[in-house]
Formats: sequence, structure tokens, C-alpha cells
Amino acid sequence: MKPASFTYHDPVSIGDVVDLLCRHENARLLAGGQSLMPMMNFRLVTPDHLIDLNGVEGLAGIEPTGNVLRFGAMTRQRDIELSADVKQFCPVMPEALRHVGHCQTRNRGTIGGSLCHLDPSAELVNITALHDGTLHAESRRGARRLAFTEFATGYMSNALEPDELLVAVTLTPWPRHHGYAFVEVARRLGDYAIVCVSAQLALDGRGTISRAALALSGLGTTPVRPTLVERALLGQEPAHGVFRAAAAEAGKLDAMSDAYITAAYRQHLARILTYRALERAVERCYERMKM
Ligand code: FAD
Repeated sequence: MKPASFTYHDPVSIGDVVDLLCRHENARLLAGGQSLMPMMNFRLVTPDHLIDLNGVEGLAGIEPTGNVLRFGAMTRQRDIELSADVKQFCPVMPEALRHVGHCQTRNRGTIGGSLCHLDPSAELVNITALHDGTLHAESRRGARRLAFTEFATGYMSNALEPDELLVAVTLTPWPRHHGYAFVEVARRLGDYAIVCVSAQLALDGRGTISRAALALSGLGTTPVRPTLVERALLGQEPAHGVFRAAAAEAGKLDAMSDAYITAAYRQHLARILTYRALERAVERCYERMKM
């Protein structure tokens, strides 16, 4: 199929974009087009105005500034995957990105598009939740910062106003020697995950867990941060039994059923993948402490 007719705009500045968003109702922003174009072709979305971000200055780039890592919304997934800064400051991100679609889609797809599309099991959405990321939006009314928990409002819906542009996302990297892991089960390589789990751990001088973060995607409409499970890990030895107990709790999280996957299977994957992610993360703690 082909999209319904629309007026195409190709602004060159952020100011132009917010002006166009202010002037035109039923407008959509085009980033990498890897989700929006199929949705338009299937007429799942029929914008009257398509505002192309690909020629806009100042929306792409990766900047480690101070203690945050800043990603311009139009930064291509492939550039993030290959970035030395991201490998150094947020190594779980390239590990997750290798599961996103294919090289070809990652060459065009952007972090801003992935976050705004907000598929329940999108890997970049999962990693942003893992880091309690901050999203930076702009409109004619000025700039606005949203915590990820405020941004993701439900199934493929975000808190941006119709006249707002996502300009960047910032994550706070973990200390150097932290351990990390990203694991997922998908029908085929390149498919969206059925369930994916990311984990980060830091150990104190006695070798006990001083910091823990988990993010599970694919159970519900947005990623879940099981804070009670994370808290229960603190102060513990990173032993198999401790991780099995944490995984058992993760396997009890609410999960949705749909025509293809039962809630019970999603919970089974949550349990298995949480255990694997924690085990891999602590292995990396030891590996990286030797570096
Ligand atoms: P677009 O498709 O251009 O836009 C997506 C949505 O975000 C649109 O509604 C658009 O209006 C909005 N938007 C974009 N940028 C902004 C902005 N700056 N401000 C406000 N709104 C904005 N993704 C995964 O996570 N995991 C996968 O396994 C996966 N597999 C895929 C396999 C294939 C074959 C394909 C084609 C895609 C796959 N994707 C997957 C999706 C891909 O990652 C997309 O790149 C991503 O979902 C959207 O990014 P985009 O830059 O293409 O955005």
C-alpha cells in the first residue's frame, strides 16, 4: 500500500521544526523512517504534514559532557553501536543494539525515533529505562525535561505534546568497574524481542553488591524496573542462590498475553533471562576489576 497524501516539509533548524509543529495540526516527524514509513504505508497513521528531521542541524551526535552521556535524537543507532565513547561509558548499549533489527535498519534508525515509537520491547527503550534516562523536548513554549518514567505513558504512547520535538536523551553512566548484560529471546535475529532483560551491578570492596539495576521489556506496555528485586540484591554476595531468588521474583511480575505469546511464557522468559543477565553482569564485574 502507499501512504495517504501529505504535505512534505524539510526544515533545516530546530526553530523551523517547532514553528512547523506549532502551525500544523496532524503533523508527524520523520526520523529514520524505519517504523513511521511502514505505519504510513499501511495507513496506520495518516499525517497531513510530514516534517523531515534528516536535514536539521544540531539533532545528531554523542557527547560525554560532565557526568552524563548526551545523545542527539537523530543519532543513528549504528553510530551509537560503533561509538568508542558509548563503549567506554555505557557498554550495555552496543550489546543491546546488536539485537535491534539489522545493520541496514540501524544505519537509518535513530535513538529518538526508537524512544518516541516506544515499542514495548524496543532495546533502546529498555536501556534508557535501565539508566533512568532523561528526555529533552523543545517546542515554541520552550525546553522541557522528562524522566523516562514520565515519558513512557502506555502502549506505544509518550508524553510529548503534539507540538514538541524530542531533541536529546541523556543517561548517567555507571562507575567504571560496573558489570552489565543484555539478553533477549526473539523469534528470529532482528525481530523485536519477546522478552529482553538488561542488568547492571556494582560490587563494593568486600565483593558484595553495592548497586543493582534491572530492566525487563516485553512483559507489559513499557519496561519494568523491579525495584524490590533490585533492593533485595543490595549487600548480598553475588551468589547463584541470590540470583535464582531474584529471578524467581522477576518471574512473578505481571505479564500481558496476546494472540501469540501467553503471560506464563513471558514470565518464564523473565525468570530465565533475569538469572542469565545477573550471572553475566557479575562475571563482567570481576573481568573489569582486573582491567
Ligand atoms: P521513525 O520511524 O522515523 O519515527 C518513529 C516515530 O517516532 C514516529 O511517530 C515519529 O514521528 C516519531 N519521532 C521520531 N523522531 C522524533 C523526534 N525527534 N521527536 C518527536 N517524535 C519523533 N526496533 C527495535 O527496537 N528492535 C528491533 O528488533 C527492531 N527490528 C526492526 C526490524 C525491521 C525490519 C525494521 C524495519 C525496523 C525494526 N525496528 C526495531 C525499528 C527501528 O529500530 C526504528 O528505527 C525505530 O523503531 C524508529 O526509529 P526511526 O528513527 O526509524 O524513527
